[in-house]
Parts: sequence; C-alpha cells; structure tokens
Amino acid sequence: MARYRGAVCRQCRREKLKLFLKGDRCYSDKCAFERRSFAPGQHGQARMRKVSDYAIQLREKQKVRRIYGMLEGQFRKYFERAEMHKGVTGENLLQLLERRFDNTLYRLGFLNSRSQARQMIKHNHFLVNGRKVNIPSFQISVNDVITLKEKSRKIGVINESLAAVARRGVPSWLELDQDNYKATVKSLPDRQEITMPIQEQLIVELYSK
Ligand code: SF4
Repeated sequence: MARYRGAVCRQCRREKLKLFLKGDRCYSDKCAFERRSFAPGQHGQARMRKVSDYAIQLREKQKVRRIYGMLEGQFRKYFERAEMHKGVTGENLLQLLERRFDNTLYRLGFLNSRSQARQMIKHNHFLVNGRKVNIPSFQISVNDVITLKEKSRKIGVINESLAAVARRGVPSWLELDQDNYKATVKSLPDRQEITMPIQEQLIVELYSK
C-alpha cells in the first residue's frame, strides 16, 4: 500500500494539532509540536489570513486522513463507502476508519502507533478468529477475536506498548485480555468513542461540492 514518506511530525505542525503518529514520543517532551507549534515552512509563523470555508473543510479532511495514515485516493474510497451505508455519512466514515485492523490494534494498545500496527500486521504477527490476516485495512466486525501469535509474544515493541495500556486506556467497544495477548470486539465503535477533535461534517461538505 502506498503511504506518506515525508517527515511525520511535520503533519501535526501543519494541522496545528497533535495527531499522535509516533507512539510514546508524542507523550514526551521530544514531541516536535510541543517545541514548535506553528506550521512548517517559511511562512509558518505568519499571521493568519482570513480563511475560506473551502480551506477549513480541506484542512479537516487532511487532518483525519493523516490521523489514519492514508493517501487521498484511499481516503476518498472510504468516503464513497460511507455514503453507501445507511445513516449519517460523516459518522459512517469515522466508523469505517476506526474498524480498520491497524487502527483496532492501536486502540487496543498492542502497538504505539497505527504505522507500527501496519508493519506488524504485514509481518503476519496477528490472527483474527484463528486465521492469518495480513491486510491493515481489513475491517473488523463484532465478536471478532484478535490474537497475537504464540511465537510473536516476545516482540519488544508489542510488550512495551502493552505496558502503557493502563495509561492510555482501551475504548469500551473493545475488550483486551492482556495476559493472553487476546482481544474481542464487543461492538462497533460509535461516535462518542472517537475523542480526537474531528468535525466530520466539514469533510462531507468538502466532498459534496
Ligand atoms: Fe505529532 Fe507525535 Fe511528532 Fe508530536 S511526536 S509532532 S504528536 S507525531
């Protein structure tokens, strides 16, 4: 899968928000946003001009796209799928993004970031309902059981990340059995579970033009 290969922290500075893309570093004083919370580039510290509605909608879309680590084409396809589902398109979109396998592992605390989760998935470390799943975009469903393979249970980054679960917490739609490296999807994620400041309606407005 194609992915963004530029400087990761630059994305947070561009969106003027901590997007938590680098795991534990994001919680430390090494966080680039804590040190330079202005947009990157020559005009990053210039005074804000009046911004158009289009620019506000575009920034919101870029922010969400970056949080979930997707390129434009992939993100657009999620939006099109969200439109086809019953209900509120913006909420459908967020739910589809949350149900990605890489996001689910990140939310469970198995990995410190979605990019780390993607790597571990591709390296075949996790099973869903006892079967190998090495596709980061795989959509998890209610009652799915996720397990870390027996032989992968000594991987340092996974154990370090799990050690921080108590601090980060696990959303209520997921249940983690940390001792057995196992998790169950209790329900589908709802809007209240997504605590990042996201205004999904702006993305709907942008793509509906
Ligand atoms: Fe963003 Fe994390 Fe980098 Fe801070 S350390 S700027 S939160 S990716």
